[in-house]
Amino acid sequence: MERLIDLHTHSTASDGSMRPAELVRHAKQRGLSAIAITDHDTVDGIQEAFDEAEKEGIEVISGIEISADSKPEMHILGYFFNNNHLRIKDSLTALKNGRDSRNAKIIVKLNELGINITLADIEQEVLGEIIGRPHIAKALMSKGYVKSISEAFDKYLRDGGLAYFKRFELKPEDGIREIIKAGGIPVLAHPIFLHLSNSQLDELLCLLVSYGLKGIEAYYVDNSKEDTGNLLRLAIKHKLLVTGGSDFHGSFKTDIEIGSGRGNLKITYDVLEKLKNA
Ligand code: AMP
Ligand code: ZN
Ligand code: FE
Ligand code: FE
Repeated sequence: MERLIDLHTHSTASDGSMRPAELVRHAKQRGLSAIAITDHDTVDGIQEAFDEAEKEGIEVISGIEISADSKPEMHILGYFFNNNHLRIKDSLTALKNGRDSRNAKIIVKLNELGINITLADIEQEVLGEIIGRPHIAKALMSKGYVKSISEAFDKYLRDGGLAYFKRFELKPEDGIREIIKAGGIPVLAHPIFLHLSNSQLDELLCLLVSYGLKGIEAYYVDNSKEDTGNLLRLAIKHKLLVTGGSDFHGSFKTDIEIGSGRGNLKITYDVLEKLKNA
């Protein structure tokens, strides 16, 4: 039987709906051999996932997804850093504070738009330390202001939405360097979200590789077959490792399943094998 994996998942430590242990059990139930937990700007969920993985007999890889300043926002995945020697705590605190002060601005703006929402309403949707836009979206839904999370983003929370505010982010080079300092492998997440042409992405990769980038997320839930083909070619050209994942968020992204995404993903264990050998 083919061994399948998912190297991009979110737990309640950031903006997923499943606790880390629950996420691990869910992956096991779905027949996966290994997953990486890649919460946004936090490593809080990893220990619980490791502990559950031991009981369940499934492999968990330490991961993170760091937000970097670029337009549109750039995400950098980090894998296999040593949790105990993590030297990126200060940067993660800065990112958390950046979200908190941005959230306060969003709430004020929503109130000005006639929406009755408080931080306490949003906190009802949060189980970890990170409070992000998905939690605000869920609170808007719970209070009946929108019918879905995507409607909340479309109307209010997306870049250009009525209540959008930029938050503090690391520079891409700092995100990459922080992951390296922590002993991890930095990987450019979902390159298609950067909306670049092939030659622009080619150029960007030259720059990011000069900062220490080691991999590219070539398999991703929102990729077309053509996107994936392009990314695999760019990986060869820039001698980059290849990773892949569904960006599973549980009930925050209802149409995406762990491992299989929207039925379009099948990431085999050899992808992880190569990452481990690096
Ligand atoms: P934040 O980091 O707090 O600014 O929130 C951004 C997160 O919201 C992203 O990393 C995604 O997980 C999620 N997100 C962004 N756009 C959408 C969308 N249109 N629908 C659902 N989730 C989204
Ligand atoms: Zn997310
Ligand atoms: Fe992302
Ligand atoms: Fe993600």
